[in-house]
Amino acid sequence: MIIQLEKGITPEQLERLRDKLREIQYKATHVSAQNGDYIIGVGKKEFDIRAIGTLPGIRDIHRVSDDYKLVSKKWRVEDTLIELDGGIELGTGHFALMAGPCSIESEGQVEETIAHLLANGVRIMRGGVYKPRSSPYSFRGLGIDGLKLWYEKAREAGIKIITEVMMVEQIEAMLPYVDIFQVGARNSQNFNLLDALGEVGKPVLLKRGISGTIDELLQAAEYIFSNGNERILLCERGIRTYETAYRNTMDINAIAMLKEKTHLPVIADPSHGVGLRRFVDKVALASVMAGADGIIMEVHEQPEKAFSDGQQTLSFPEAERLYKQLRMAFNLREGFGPGF
Ligand code: PEP
Ligand code: MN
Repeated sequence: MIIQLEKGITPEQLERLRDKLREIQYKATHVSAQNGDYIIGVGKKEFDIRAIGTLPGIRDIHRVSDDYKLVSKKWRVEDTLIELDGGIELGTGHFALMAGPCSIESEGQVEETIAHLLANGVRIMRGGVYKPRSSPYSFRGLGIDGLKLWYEKAREAGIKIITEVMMVEQIEAMLPYVDIFQVGARNSQNFNLLDALGEVGKPVLLKRGISGTIDELLQAAEYIFSNGNERILLCERGIRTYETAYRNTMDINAIAMLKEKTHLPVIADPSHGVGLRRFVDKVALASVMAGADGIIMEVHEQPEKAFSDGQQTLSFPEAERLYKQLRMAFNLREGFGPGF
């Protein structure tokens, strides 16, 4: 159950509520997040919802039977809007485009990418400075210095930064330079990291684990929310199946399913989702039609020279074509008609 508290609830009223929950043997967790305070009650006993809902200091009460609660659409019917400064809005009818290289490689690359994004009206740049790589001998990123270099250029251009954080210990140093923290597929169930990101004041894009279920993704998001951060984006980035013809199997179904189950924005990553450059546009467009609120994709001025994931990275001209197609597809889906 989710109990939404009144802003002015008194300590006595809160204690009375806790007593009631104890009576029905429900475990109570207090969540203080951007949009309010909640008590999450978890238990098995049937109870009369009115007996709690009518207590003073309570704004609203909802029964949510899913294992995840705060991220469930059963409770919050309206989709979540995530705002970044500079007037950037994600979710609820705003199409989010995020593009950039797999890895931040050099100052020149950052400058070229920013110029490409600006020319195409893309306001959020992706890039990794801490790279989870299957082999320890692959390029593992430029680290915090790479992030600072990137930040200088991005700020000047009004471009926002999304980048992966791999460890709790990295959060503090990264915080001033990041607009959206990315949690990678391999860290999707790193519960310590999720707990810690629940306490930061920046949005988090949470990727689905390589073999993670939809339910596990939603429960991972619940970790972040229940620690106080409501600003979460979910990302479908392909899962591991028996198919070996491509890198991952983009689970388009999951996009439609997530949109039904949660109020959080859903972003699709077709680059990792299929892993082959020539299919990225098709998978991206299909993701939009399935309901995605945005696309995150890998682009590079010379994909064949990229330090990582070049095989799935679009060149600038390829990306330009796709941005246009994606905006048209989104508008079509939303019923805005063709055009921008
Ligand atoms: C990435 O975004 O470059 C990345 C490593 O993604 P994932 O965690 O989905 O593999
Ligand atoms: Mn990559």
